[in-house]
Amino acid sequence: MKVLVLNSGSSSVKYQVIEVEGEKVLAKGLVERIGLEGSRLKHRGAQGEIVVEEEIKNHSEAIELILKYLSHPEYGAVKEPDEIGAVGHRVVHGGEKFSGSVLITDEVIQSIRECIPLAPLHNPANLAGILAAQEKLPGKPMVAVFDTAFHQTMPPHSYMYAIPYHIYQERRVRRYGFHGTSHRYVSARAASILGRPLQELKMITAHLGNGASMCAVKEGKSVDTTMGYTPLEGLYMGTRCGDLDPAVPLALQNQLRLTPQEVDHLLNKKSGMLGVSGISSDMRDLEEAAEKGNPRAELALRMYAYKVKKYIGAYAAAMGGLDALVFTAGIGENSPLIREWSCEGLEFLGIEIDDELNRATIRGKEGIISKGKVKVLVVPTNEELVIARDTMEIVSRL
Ligand code: AMP
Repeated sequence: MKVLVLNSGSSSVKYQVIEVEGEKVLAKGLVERIGLEGSRLKHRGAQGEIVVEEEIKNHSEAIELILKYLSHPEYGAVKEPDEIGAVGHRVVHGGEKFSGSVLITDEVIQSIRECIPLAPLHNPANLAGILAAQEKLPGKPMVAVFDTAFHQTMPPHSYMYAIPYHIYQERRVRRYGFHGTSHRYVSARAASILGRPLQELKMITAHLGNGASMCAVKEGKSVDTTMGYTPLEGLYMGTRCGDLDPAVPLALQNQLRLTPQEVDHLLNKKSGMLGVSGISSDMRDLEEAAEKGNPRAELALRMYAYKVKKYIGAYAAAMGGLDALVFTAGIGENSPLIREWSCEGLEFLGIEIDDELNRATIRGKEGIISKGKVKVLVVPTNEELVIARDTMEIVSRL
C-alpha cells in the first residue's frame, strides 16, 4: 500500500509517500511559508528535485499542490492521487485520550480539537492538514499518529506534578511527553539490532535534535520521559531552556517587567544553546566555535552533555538497571563529541564508549558504539515510516 504521510505545521507541510511493504520512499517534500510571501514547494520524486514558487494561501492549496506533484508525469510517485491507499497524519497532542494511533473519524477530530489548549501552536495546524486532506482526497481512510501516545504508559508517579490535585483534575495539567513516535521506533529497532526481545530490555532512548527528549523504555513501554506538559521541560535544546526553577519565569516577569507572552518567547525561542552561547542554536556551529576556543560555546556543550548524563543516571535508577542506551536525531546521530561527553564517567553503570566505533558512526549509519556491559547504539530515527506502518495496519483491518 502507498501511504501519504503528512506532517502539518502552521506554515508548512512536510510529506512523504511510502510504499509500506517494501519500506520504500517514493517521493518526499515540503511546502513552506503557507499564507506568507515567498511560499514554495520543494519536491523530490522519481526524476530528482523540483522547486515550485507560487502563492499558496492555505493548507488546502498546499495539499492540492502536493497531490499535483505526487501524480506529476515526470516527478510523481503515482499515476493519479487515487493510487494513494491511505493518509497518515502526525498529530502532536492526543492528551489522555489516545494511547495509540487511530482511524480519523468526526469524533477523533473533535477530540484533537479538545486538545488544542494543551498544544495551542501544534494541534490547530495538524487539524488544518487533516481537514485539507479530507477535502482533497474525499473518502480516503486517514489515520492520526500522536507524539504523546507512546508515553501514555507512564505511571502516575512519573507523570504527576506536585501542584494542587484539582488542577490536574480540572485542567489536565500533568506531564505528557513528546517525540513518542521516535522513541517507539528507535527502541524497537535497537532491540532488533541486539537480537533480543524488546519485552526483556531496560533501555534509555535519547532523541537529540533541535527539540530533544529522553525516554526510559522498560520492557517496550515508556515509563518516564523528559518533556512534560509542554516540550519545554527536560533537556535543554536549540532555543528552549529545558528544566528550570519554576520561580525563574516569575522573577523575569517581576524584575524585568516582561509579559507572560514575552517570558514564553524568551524561554522557547531565545534560550537553550542559542541563549547560553550567544552564537547559534545549531550544534555544528557550537562545536566549531568551541574548537576555536570560544568559552561560551564550550560551556553550552558541557551543559548539554551534563544534562543528558544526569538523565541517564536518573532513568537507570527509575528502571532498576540498564541494558541499552540509544542515541538518535540530528545531534544523537551525528555528534560523536556529545555522545562521548554524555557517557563520560558512567563506567560504574557499565557504560563504556568505544572511541573508534563512536567516531565512525555518523550520517545515517546505525550501529553499536560501546565496549561495556550496557550496549550503546546509534539508530537513525524514522517517524514517517512508523506513521506509514501504523496507517497501513489500521486501514487493512477495515
Ligand atoms: P534534527 O532536529 O533532528 O534535524 O537535528 C538538528 C540538530 O542536529 C542541529 O542542532 C544540528 O546542528 C545537529 N546536527 C546535524 N548534523 C550534525 C553534525 N554533523 N554534527 C553535530 N550536530 C549536527
